[in-house]
Amino acid sequence: MRYSAFPSDGRWMRGNLHSHTTLSDGLVEPAQQAADYRAMGYDFLSVTDHNVMHKLTELNCDGFLMLPGWERDIPYGTTKCLHVVGQFPADYPEDSFRRPKGDPEKMSMQHLLDEMNGENDFITLAHPVWSRMEPEEIRALTGYHAIEVFNTGTERLCHAGRADILWDMLLRDGRHVFCVACDDTHGKTAKPDRFGGWVMVKAETLSVADLLCALRAGHYYATQGPELNEFAIEDGRVIIDCSPCEEVHIVTWPPRGRSIYNTEGSPLIHVECPLKGGERYVRVECVDAQGQTAWSQPLWSNGADEPAFAL
Ligand SMILES: [Zn+2]
Ligand SMILES: [Zn+2]
Repeated sequence: MRYSAFPSDGRWMRGNLHSHTTLSDGLVEPAQQAADYRAMGYDFLSVTDHNVMHKLTELNCDGFLMLPGWERDIPYGTTKCLHVVGQFPADYPEDSFRRPKGDPEKMSMQHLLDEMNGENDFITLAHPVWSRMEPEEIRALTGYHAIEVFNTGTERLCHAGRADILWDMLLRDGRHVFCVACDDTHGKTAKPDRFGGWVMVKAETLSVADLLCALRAGHYYATQGPELNEFAIEDGRVIIDCSPCEEVHIVTWPPRGRSIYNTEGSPLIHVECPLKGGERYVRVECVDAQGQTAWSQPLWSNGADEPAFAL
């Protein structure tokens, strides 16, 4: 029995789930942003300006889709904040298009997440390291689907864009949280903050409904470049098909996983590795010769003696 992280049907589509434009504090106009991402081979883009919802459907064109989104925030303490990115369905009636913003002074962090997490929405905890969130503060929150494991903008701003340790912390708690890589494009960093991290979604069609359905189901992976064509568990073995990579890391818990390297001058494109037994979850990271990483979502064991794995 093969437990694959990806559905057999559908096609792969590339997208950025977090970007800003002149609608808030970004430097690029929405139309130019969409044109630039399209020219780089993206299939979809979510403009997630601060505290404002825009569908931007006028920028949809053949083979390129705007995925409606926004980003909301609550500052707390003297240096900390919670930022949450949300994608939402295209068919919100106009009167619910702008949901109440609430008063950040009075709204709790959980209230913000609950308010954003509507039916069929996809909610991501943004750049927790840049936000200076403590692990216990992240642990206390529920109601989000994913955490940004890599954020180009905050990484290039101040080396605060990676969060794989925090993601594993949640996974070890048994939380079924997916990962996202994204740009958080502002256009203000010394090194450009576009095209550095994205998601590859396997969905039926390039539509808002199908993309949201696939994202909520975890039918995607996060990447800075490498492709992950298969990630599966079959007969107690991990099976990975990827674009040519130098390293494949199998991350598991509680037993320790394993790292596999290209030691024979032939990049890794197919890896099979036995599990040790007792894994609660299994995920993989594939790293190419440029040091760029692809992150799978975790496959979860059902905890039985002969475990079945699922997203
Ligand atoms: Zn943010
Ligand atoms: Zn942002």
